[in-house]
Amino acid sequence: MAQSHLLGLPRIGAKRELKFALEKYWREETSQEELQQVAHSIRQQNWSTALDKGIDWLTVGDFSFYDQVLDTSILLGVTPERFENGKADNLLDNYFRIARGSAPQGSQVQPSEMTKWFNTNYHYIVPEFNQEQQFSLNLDLLQPQIDQAKDLSSKVKVQLIGPVTYLWLGKSRDQTDFNKLGLLPQLVKTYQQLLNHLEQQGIEWVQIEEPILALDLDDSWVNAVTQAYTELGADAGVKLLLTTYFGHITDKLDRIAELPLDGLHLDLVSGGNEQLAEVAQNWPKSKVLSVGIVNGRNIWRNDLKSSLDALKQSKERYGDNLWVSSSCSLLHSPVDLNSEQQLDDELQSWLAFAEQKVQEVADLSKALNHGSEAIKESLQASDVAVASKKSSSRVHNSNVQQRVAAISELERQRKSEFAQRKNAQREHFRFPLLATTTIGSFPQTDSIRQARRAFKSKEIDEQQYTQAIQQEIQQAIHEQEAIGLDVLVHGEAERNDMVEYFGEQLNGFAFTQFGWVQSYGSRCVKPPIIYGDVSRKQAITVEWSKYAQSLSEKKVKGMLTGPTTILAWSFEREDLSAPQIADQIALALRDEVLDLEKNGIDVIQIDEPAFRELLPLRKSEQPQYLEWSVNAFRLSTAGVADTTQIHTHMCYSEFNEIIDSIARLDADVITIESSRSDMELLQTFNDFQYPNEIGPGVYDIHSPRIPTKDEVSELIQQAAKHIPVDQLWVNPDCGLKTRNWDQVRPALKNLVDAATEARQQL
Ligand code: GLN
Ligand code: ZN
Repeated sequence: MAQSHLLGLPRIGAKRELKFALEKYWREETSQEELQQVAHSIRQQNWSTALDKGIDWLTVGDFSFYDQVLDTSILLGVTPERFENGKADNLLDNYFRIARGSAPQGSQVQPSEMTKWFNTNYHYIVPEFNQEQQFSLNLDLLQPQIDQAKDLSSKVKVQLIGPVTYLWLGKSRDQTDFNKLGLLPQLVKTYQQLLNHLEQQGIEWVQIEEPILALDLDDSWVNAVTQAYTELGADAGVKLLLTTYFGHITDKLDRIAELPLDGLHLDLVSGGNEQLAEVAQNWPKSKVLSVGIVNGRNIWRNDLKSSLDALKQSKERYGDNLWVSSSCSLLHSPVDLNSEQQLDDELQSWLAFAEQKVQEVADLSKALNHGSEAIKESLQASDVAVASKKSSSRVHNSNVQQRVAAISELERQRKSEFAQRKNAQREHFRFPLLATTTIGSFPQTDSIRQARRAFKSKEIDEQQYTQAIQQEIQQAIHEQEAIGLDVLVHGEAERNDMVEYFGEQLNGFAFTQFGWVQSYGSRCVKPPIIYGDVSRKQAITVEWSKYAQSLSEKKVKGMLTGPTTILAWSFEREDLSAPQIADQIALALRDEVLDLEKNGIDVIQIDEPAFRELLPLRKSEQPQYLEWSVNAFRLSTAGVADTTQIHTHMCYSEFNEIIDSIARLDADVITIESSRSDMELLQTFNDFQYPNEIGPGVYDIHSPRIPTKDEVSELIQQAAKHIPVDQLWVNPDCGLKTRNWDQVRPALKNLVDAATEARQQL
């Protein structure tokens, strides 16, 4: 019989129970026992769901109080030295200190770094190694979960991050770089002990995850995989399911096939169905092949019929050794579609959240074993959904499609080259050298939140709401004028979220009530769903911008979110390619840009903070991505006159590999994060001879600290070493919405004073 299993389930709970329990615990409003209770019941709920729906194997190790990589660090005894000082007397508090710097017990300490988990929006806690790193098993987090699962089923599979990926994810801190791979032999020994322990627990299968196999890896890392699994596989005592996801592994398949493994999991969704043919030539029938065919990172219902077609041949070849699963852990999907009360029936029928995906995995395996008849109803519902989506008029809008088909390359081209525009803009704006500006948002104060809440709950009407927001805009403008900034912003008080706000005013987008996905720790995001062709209902930001501009003699920047970022932070369609969706969004934004321009807004910023995030993991796929992403940005911006200044903003500082694409965006001004990297990133711009203007962040807004004037001056001097002064702007790293006015006011004042002083010294 084919078997069904899951790579992992969401752990936040259908109503974000874990989030609320964690935050209560951190505020010291509940005990650790109560927190453990919530964790226990989420796991119980998850496993019961899996069993009820007919999943064969329970997966243990997918639960985490904060992050699974941090759990792995605890499991392997990797905790950086600085956490030893002022230690709490219990594991969980020390765990939270590493994750977030504080806990009910134990002293405050600088937390470990956090970074994105491959190409997802999930963030993990980066392990910190030193050269003499020792590893030692600590089962305190894992063992209770194993015990709990064993009470429910005898078929328990343990999920672990594999040793090579674990090493790859970590970094060395406060030390000159050393070769992390030097730690591998000792780490493998510790894994050996772990596997032996699991064997003694009666565990049959271990899902050992090496997602780095889906990357372009140096030989040294591929060799490390060979070395690790040659040893681990030799006398593991448990069966090893080498698990990969987020891409194909065909380039390494021959190496992997030689290893003493018992099973292999492939992600067919991001790696492509073609992998099945490749694998059939390399991977023996006598071993388990697990196929991840239900998308773990999206919200669309599976097309069961075509999935069954794709699996047929594998079933013939692998028979009982075929396992069916989700592409990756369902951690990246929202929890339960049944929580949604406000979606219409049609849209709802197209969707599947984690719970529904569990059913799909179980159904597929059932159909492989007992024929399609066995899942007749599910198949029918899936067929109906596929058909209705294909023909639905809310999905397909021929006007939008025709407009996209008719895009001419000229529309992606500004009227003149930057060199010429620059002169026209100098003449037109007469901004000072080292002009000062901010990135867009100002503090989200209680009064803003209150107004938004009151409007949502209909306590105040639209007119009252508009007045309330105008009041906020007025304040922001007055503050900025008092501070003396050169180019102002309206402050984004009307926006809860930079993607949701635009999605709400575009056709083709839908919003859920409970479609939360964990982003990090207790933080969750609720991405909109792009289900249909995108078009603008009406002007989105024009009235707010016009109002803001009417209050000042200075220029007030229009503020939009770019096509790639809107796409990246939404659940995207599966029936239309990303470049096409991006172009649809870009056309809607283009109209908005032109409307702003028509209404006298001639400095317009289009944020693209997700530009780098969507960069494919594989080098070979990057040029194509960069091409469409740059093209979409250009389509949204290029319609304006030479004397309209286009800004963009990105909040990260690694540009080396993509600098030519950044230049191809052809924004007149780009503002970027950089204050923490001592302006080193500007070297990249310098080496490239980046021609357009740049505003490197000189105020780190991620910290409540107020930079002194001297600190800002120092950063301006540094910047001026790399970039000619007449190309430089002076601004913070990112938007200020997470700060409060008592921090922002003096910080910006120092920033303006530093710029003024620097100008005088020129
Ligand atoms: N304009 C946005 C803001 O200031 C940019 C946010 C971002 O870069 N993520 O909040
Ligand atoms: Zn930013």
